[in-house]
Amino acid sequence: MKKLWLLLGLTVLASMAFVQARPKAKLIADPTALYEAYNEMYFLGALPKGSNHVLISAEEISCGIEEKCYGQTSQISRHQYVIQISPIYNDTLAQEEETMLHEMCHIRVWESHPDLDAKNAHGYEWQSCMVNLADHGAMADIW
Ligand SMILES: [Zn+2]
Repeated sequence: MKKLWLLLGLTVLASMAFVQARPKAKLIADPTALYEAYNEMYFLGALPKGSNHVLISAEEISCGIEEKCYGQTSQISRHQYVIQISPIYNDTLAQEEETMLHEMCHIRVWESHPDLDAKNAHGYEWQSCMVNLADHGAMADIW
Protein backbone atom coordinates (compact mmCIF):
# COMPACT_ATOMS: atom_id res chain seq x y z
CA MET A 1 0.00 0.00 0.00
CA LYS A 2 2.89 2.34 0.80
CA LYS A 3 4.33 1.78 -2.69
CA LEU A 4 0.97 2.66 -4.24
CA TRP A 5 0.94 6.04 -2.44
CA LEU A 6 4.54 6.65 -3.51
CA LEU A 7 3.66 5.83 -7.12
CA LEU A 8 0.60 8.11 -6.97
CA GLY A 9 2.72 10.93 -5.54
CA LEU A 10 5.36 10.56 -8.23
CA THR A 11 2.67 10.57 -10.92
CA VAL A 12 1.23 13.84 -9.57
CA LEU A 13 4.70 15.43 -9.43
CA ALA A 14 5.48 14.28 -12.98
CA SER A 15 2.23 15.72 -14.31
CA MET A 16 2.92 19.05 -12.55
CA ALA A 17 6.36 19.20 -14.13
CA PHE A 18 4.80 18.53 -17.57
CA VAL A 19 2.31 21.37 -17.12
CA GLN A 20 5.10 23.78 -16.17
CA ALA A 21 7.20 22.65 -19.16
CA ARG A 22 4.46 23.51 -21.67
CA PRO A 23 5.34 26.46 -23.92
CA LYS A 24 3.93 29.77 -22.77
CA ALA A 25 1.68 31.86 -24.98
CA LYS A 26 2.57 35.30 -26.34
CA LEU A 27 5.93 34.09 -27.62
CA ILE A 28 6.27 36.86 -30.17
CA ALA A 29 7.92 39.66 -28.24
CA ASP A 30 6.67 42.35 -30.62
CA PRO A 31 3.88 41.18 -32.99
CA THR A 32 3.75 44.57 -34.70
CA ALA A 33 7.46 44.31 -35.55
CA LEU A 34 6.88 40.77 -36.89
CA TYR A 35 4.02 42.06 -39.06
CA GLU A 36 6.19 44.86 -40.41
CA ALA A 37 9.09 42.45 -41.09
CA TYR A 38 6.84 39.93 -42.89
CA ASN A 39 5.25 42.79 -44.83
CA GLU A 40 8.66 43.77 -46.21
CA MET A 41 9.98 40.20 -46.64
CA TYR A 42 6.98 38.49 -48.23
CA PHE A 43 4.51 41.17 -49.36
CA LEU A 44 7.01 43.71 -50.78
CA GLY A 45 5.71 46.26 -48.27
CA ALA A 46 2.35 46.34 -50.04
CA LEU A 47 0.18 45.76 -46.96
CA PRO A 48 -0.96 48.70 -44.83
CA LYS A 49 1.70 49.96 -42.42
CA GLY A 50 1.63 51.63 -39.02
CA SER A 51 -0.53 51.16 -35.97
CA ASN A 52 -3.17 53.55 -37.32
CA HIS A 53 -3.71 51.05 -40.16
CA VAL A 54 -3.07 47.69 -38.50
CA LEU A 55 -3.67 47.05 -34.82
CA ILE A 56 -2.45 43.71 -33.47
CA SER A 57 -3.99 42.30 -30.32
CA ALA A 58 -3.09 39.20 -28.32
CA GLU A 59 -6.32 39.06 -26.34
CA GLU A 60 -8.42 35.92 -26.37
CA ILE A 61 -10.74 35.65 -29.35
CA SER A 62 -14.21 34.30 -29.86
CA CYS A 63 -14.73 33.02 -33.39
CA GLY A 64 -18.25 31.73 -32.92
CA ILE A 65 -18.75 28.11 -33.84
CA GLU A 66 -15.09 27.30 -34.61
CA GLU A 67 -13.52 25.02 -32.01
CA LYS A 68 -10.05 26.53 -32.12
CA CYS A 69 -9.61 30.14 -33.03
CA TYR A 70 -5.91 30.79 -33.65
CA GLY A 71 -6.40 34.22 -35.11
CA GLN A 72 -8.86 36.59 -36.65
CA THR A 73 -8.66 39.66 -38.84
CA SER A 74 -11.36 42.29 -38.99
CA GLN A 75 -11.56 45.07 -41.52
CA ILE A 76 -12.34 48.37 -39.80
CA SER A 77 -12.34 50.54 -42.92
CA ARG A 78 -10.91 50.35 -46.46
CA HIS A 79 -7.25 50.12 -45.35
CA GLN A 80 -7.59 49.58 -41.59
CA TYR A 81 -7.53 46.20 -39.88
CA VAL A 82 -7.33 44.54 -36.50
CA ILE A 83 -5.37 41.28 -36.29
CA GLN A 84 -6.08 39.19 -33.20
CA ILE A 85 -3.65 36.42 -32.26
CA SER A 86 -4.96 34.00 -29.64
CA PRO A 87 -2.63 33.59 -26.65
CA ILE A 88 -4.37 30.29 -25.85
CA TYR A 89 -4.07 28.27 -29.05
CA ASN A 90 -0.79 29.71 -30.37
CA ASP A 91 1.36 27.94 -27.82
CA THR A 92 4.56 27.83 -29.85
CA LEU A 93 6.47 30.54 -31.69
CA ALA A 94 6.08 28.66 -34.99
CA GLN A 95 2.30 28.50 -34.51
CA GLU A 96 2.14 32.23 -33.79
CA GLU A 97 4.20 32.97 -36.89
CA GLU A 98 1.95 30.80 -39.04
CA THR A 99 -1.12 32.51 -37.61
CA MET A 100 0.37 35.92 -38.40
CA LEU A 101 1.04 34.90 -42.03
CA HIS A 102 -2.46 33.40 -42.29
CA GLU A 103 -4.01 36.68 -41.10
CA MET A 104 -1.75 38.76 -43.34
CA CYS A 105 -3.02 36.80 -46.35
CA HIS A 106 -6.55 37.88 -45.39
CA ILE A 107 -5.39 41.50 -45.51
CA ARG A 108 -3.65 40.85 -48.84
CA VAL A 109 -6.90 39.51 -50.31
CA TRP A 110 -8.99 42.39 -48.93
CA GLU A 111 -6.50 44.93 -50.25
CA SER A 112 -6.34 43.45 -53.76
CA HIS A 113 -9.96 42.23 -54.02
CA PRO A 114 -12.09 44.68 -51.98
CA ASP A 115 -15.32 43.41 -53.54
CA LEU A 116 -14.67 39.74 -52.74
CA ASP A 117 -17.44 38.01 -50.81
CA ALA A 118 -16.48 37.74 -47.13
CA LYS A 119 -17.94 34.22 -47.06
CA ASN A 120 -15.09 33.19 -49.35
CA ALA A 121 -12.46 34.11 -46.74
CA HIS A 122 -10.32 31.01 -47.38
CA GLY A 123 -11.03 30.77 -51.09
CA TYR A 124 -8.75 30.70 -54.11
CA GLU A 125 -7.12 34.12 -53.58
CA TRP A 126 -6.29 33.43 -49.92
CA GLN A 127 -4.98 29.93 -50.72
CA SER A 128 -2.83 31.37 -53.53
CA CYS A 129 -1.35 33.84 -51.04
CA MET A 130 -0.46 31.04 -48.62
CA VAL A 131 1.05 28.88 -51.39
CA ASN A 132 3.04 31.89 -52.61
CA LEU A 133 4.39 32.41 -49.07
CA ALA A 134 5.40 28.74 -48.90
CA ASP A 135 7.08 29.00 -52.33
CA HIS A 136 9.15 31.92 -50.98
CA GLY A 137 10.24 30.02 -47.87
CA ALA A 138 7.99 31.74 -45.34
CA MET A 139 6.83 28.39 -43.99
CA ALA A 140 10.25 26.69 -44.02
CA ASP A 141 10.52 26.64 -40.21
CA ILE A 142 6.79 26.16 -39.68
CA TRP A 143 5.46 23.34 -41.90
ZN1 LIG B 1 -8.51 32.72 -41.86
